[in-house]
Amino acid sequence: MTPTVQSLQRRLIALGFPLPEFGADGDPGSETVAAMNAALDELASRRWPTGNRPPVTLPSPTLPAPPIPADWMPAAKMGRIICHWTAGAHKASEFDRGHYHILIEDEGKLVRGIPSIALNEAPAKRGYAAHTLGANSGSIGVSLCCMGGSNEAPFDPGKYPMTREQWDALTSVVANLCRRYSIPVTDKTVLSHAEVQNNLGIQQRGKWDFTRLAFDPSVKGAKACGDKLRAEAKAKL
Ligand SMILES: [Zn+2]
Repeated sequence: MTPTVQSLQRRLIALGFPLPEFGADGDPGSETVAAMNAALDELASRRWPTGNRPPVTLPSPTLPAPPIPADWMPAAKMGRIICHWTAGAHKASEFDRGHYHILIEDEGKLVRGIPSIALNEAPAKRGYAAHTLGANSGSIGVSLCCMGGSNEAPFDPGKYPMTREQWDALTSVVANLCRRYSIPVTDKTVLSHAEVQNNLGIQQRGKWDFTRLAFDPSVKGAKACGDKLRAEAKAKL
């Protein structure tokens, strides 16, 4: 992949864009990718004679997760973010969209849920996103589209395992929401559904989203998964 990024970088430099150098290890790094994306945006906004526009595509694995569109985050007083999986397939269904504010598909693409975040402002309004038993008021519900047909013990992620791309997009989404709604990152304000019973003292019915991460079997238990979520989201604030 690196040679492709490097050759693209060379072409952009030739077009007059000042870009940072690659690291000594040949890894483009996030700064270079961000600068290249800015250059590509500028190129895209230029007017090219018909048929003359140069084909420019950046390999996707290093692209940063897309930010949440501003109109998905209306003004509201929100106190916490609860993270789930849908226990469905890798793409968001209409059913999934009815229960959460934001869904994240297997490749990290964001899908807007049907209820607006503002409907879950306390007290919850008609049509709110019912994502967590007894804890929907003031809570934003984010869900990863995955884990349909999975089993907790023995652990079997099923046909739609949680992907690393989904997880990375989740930590970006959480950081974005924390900034927008001034939510601090604590184990009572940024947590997974599996932590709700312990951390908030609100009984749930055997929810284990998430006590296991299909892409990293070394992380086990609700607290370990939640701590990883909070540490990575905090690093993106
Ligand atoms: Zn859940």
